[in-house]
Amino acid sequence: MSVDRDWAVSRETTSLRQAGSVGAVGAGQVLRPVSGPPIEGDGLTPIAEEAERAARLLHPEGLRLPRPLHRRLLTVANQKGGVGKTTTAVNVGAAMALHGLRTLVVDLDPQGNASTALSVEHRSGTSSVYEVLIGEVGVEDVVQVSPHSPNLLCVPATIDLAGAEIELVSMVARESRLKEALGEDVLARLDVDYIFIDCPPSLGLLTVNALVATNEVFIPIQCEYYALEGLGQLLANIGLVQQHLNPTLSVTTILLTMYDGRTKLADQVTSEVRGHFGDLVLRTIIPRSVKVSEAPGYGQSVLTYDPGSRGAMSYIDAAKEIALRGAEEGSA
Ligand code: ADP
Ligand code: MG
Repeated sequence: MSVDRDWAVSRETTSLRQAGSVGAVGAGQVLRPVSGPPIEGDGLTPIAEEAERAARLLHPEGLRLPRPLHRRLLTVANQKGGVGKTTTAVNVGAAMALHGLRTLVVDLDPQGNASTALSVEHRSGTSSVYEVLIGEVGVEDVVQVSPHSPNLLCVPATIDLAGAEIELVSMVARESRLKEALGEDVLARLDVDYIFIDCPPSLGLLTVNALVATNEVFIPIQCEYYALEGLGQLLANIGLVQQHLNPTLSVTTILLTMYDGRTKLADQVTSEVRGHFGDLVLRTIIPRSVKVSEAPGYGQSVLTYDPGSRGAMSYIDAAKEIALRGAEEGSA
């Protein structure tokens, strides 16, 4: 039984989802994970089967996250490095996919860490988000299915993206190239419910492209000293994009990451962030966990690497909160 054949909620579009295929995405194109084990039997890789089994064990009653009322596009941003952007995009995306939501992670960081964790091909020369931004190809030409779940798609980033910030400067419509590429028709054919864009640790043109292409900003904040430092600058930039390029943009979601319960500081940061941002902050807090940090080294999300771990459970809880908000009237 595959996740996408066992919906607890009614589905409007069932053809692609029920095909059991690993991402038949339209235009006659069938996607297969380039790296990772070969697809077997009903279209699930061994890792995907394992992950599904684990998901069923963890939720014998069958946790199925509700689809959003509208397709949701979220930019995962914070110009500080190492705060958990990539970890969050990958693990929230994986949690959603393993619990029935079609999810696309767009890797917009030349480091390609999200592509690594999702185990999709991203060697230099691989068609990637870079070729999409410079207008050579479309998203459907580069999107890959992660072997972690047939519901989990990824637009990879290669090191070729490193020059894009500079190349984009002289291009026409340089701030809205990603938006053009992620058009409604493309996303409808990919049949995705959630799109997470994993940004590099800067506020340059790549991040601006993400902010123009989405209407929600999802900010991971590390429970550390100086956590709020630099956030003012991020919010100011979001304000500028909102004013000049994308009036629909707003910060909707904040997630506290790498919480270490042994330190007083972590609690201080938590209450400070909650005091400042109120309900935008998810109730779930991601603990600091060795399993979370080990998983990408094996080309895994923490959900597939150690499904019973605290890190995995907390990312499932975060995904659930986001999905429940998205399913409510008036949200997103
Ligand atoms: P960013 O994308 O913001 O630069 P990452 O998601 O790459 O940040 O995280 C930075 C580092 O911290 C990575 O090595 C990652 O594995 C590790 N990390 C992230 N979240 C956790 C966590 N909850 N527990 C332990 N390590 C974590
Ligand atoms: Mg990152």
